[in-house]
Amino acid sequence: MTTLTKTEGEKAPTGPDSFLSVRDLRVRFSTEDGIVKAVDGLSFDVERGKTLGIVGESGSGKSVTNLTVLGLHNPKSSTVEGEILLEGQDLVTASEKEMEKLRGNKVAMIFQDPLTALSPYYTVGRQIAEPYMKHTGASKKEARARAIEMLTKVGIPQPKTRVDDYPHQFSGGMRQRAMIAMALVCDPDLLIADEPTTALDVTVQAQILDLLKDLQQEFGSAIIFITHDLGVISDMADDLLVMYSGRAVERGSVREVLREPKHPYTWGLLSSMPRLGGDTDQALNPIPGSPPSLLNPPSGCPFHPRCAFTDQVSGDRCSTERPALGEGRAAACHLTAEQKQTIFFDTIQPRLR
Ligand code: SF4
Repeated sequence: MTTLTKTEGEKAPTGPDSFLSVRDLRVRFSTEDGIVKAVDGLSFDVERGKTLGIVGESGSGKSVTNLTVLGLHNPKSSTVEGEILLEGQDLVTASEKEMEKLRGNKVAMIFQDPLTALSPYYTVGRQIAEPYMKHTGASKKEARARAIEMLTKVGIPQPKTRVDDYPHQFSGGMRQRAMIAMALVCDPDLLIADEPTTALDVTVQAQILDLLKDLQQEFGSAIIFITHDLGVISDMADDLLVMYSGRAVERGSVREVLREPKHPYTWGLLSSMPRLGGDTDQALNPIPGSPPSLLNPPSGCPFHPRCAFTDQVSGDRCSTERPALGEGRAAACHLTAEQKQTIFFDTIQPRLR
């Protein structure tokens, strides 16, 4: 199981199996209107060979977190505090040269839209071969053979000829496979997949997810899988981090979180999801309101303007006191453990059937 152990804000030592350890990460952007707190004190660990799912709506900080791990944030307009320890090396203080060495080699990313990662001007084969030559010192011939091998692994038919095609000659699903081949060509230890199947139809989506799982088995990479879709995550991840307003609001193993979610925001995400085999006439229950402004986040619990359970917490704690995320399996919410259990099983779960 991916270890998600320490409280946010703590500077904890890296666990024995922790490949990536993020501690009290804060990412801020300067804008004309003020400072945007895109990530606000986030901690998590990822073990080698395991998958951590990160879910949340747009603007929850999940993509910014991962772009920061890759060193792809703009240092001119953003400040990064905290620690991102990759096998003990702190990426927050790493130079651009050191990050360049890591990217595509130790750490790679699969984007939602392959066209952002693949250049239209070069053949697919060249784009897979180049990072391989750069990071391993392989010859052109060796790298071409490696590109063909990778295209074979990701299930591209006739890889020996398709290696010379340009991205526009591939279908959407094939481009996604080619991007996975490009990401995995150097056998990275950590793969960050940001909504990798959102743009694909359901059948191709299932094929790509199966492919990622198979390749993880083969390559032993750790995966951070970012999505807004809890349905996809149940099949992909070992552990889950639910993000809201730049922070983690719930974490645990996927099984635990999906079997008995403890945070009202996670209840909202689950209730707004269409269910396979469910009643097609049944209305979905979207979370009311919209995600909070990161310029002026709400006081207290950032979810309080949208939460239906504030009246069950004494006084005005929800709007004045920010709930902390406890250790291990935890949810950042002032409701008592008993209240969370009762509300979930009596009110929320019946709606999910
Ligand atoms: Fe809702 Fe209050 Fe819990 Fe926040 S702390 S999720 S507002 S009940």
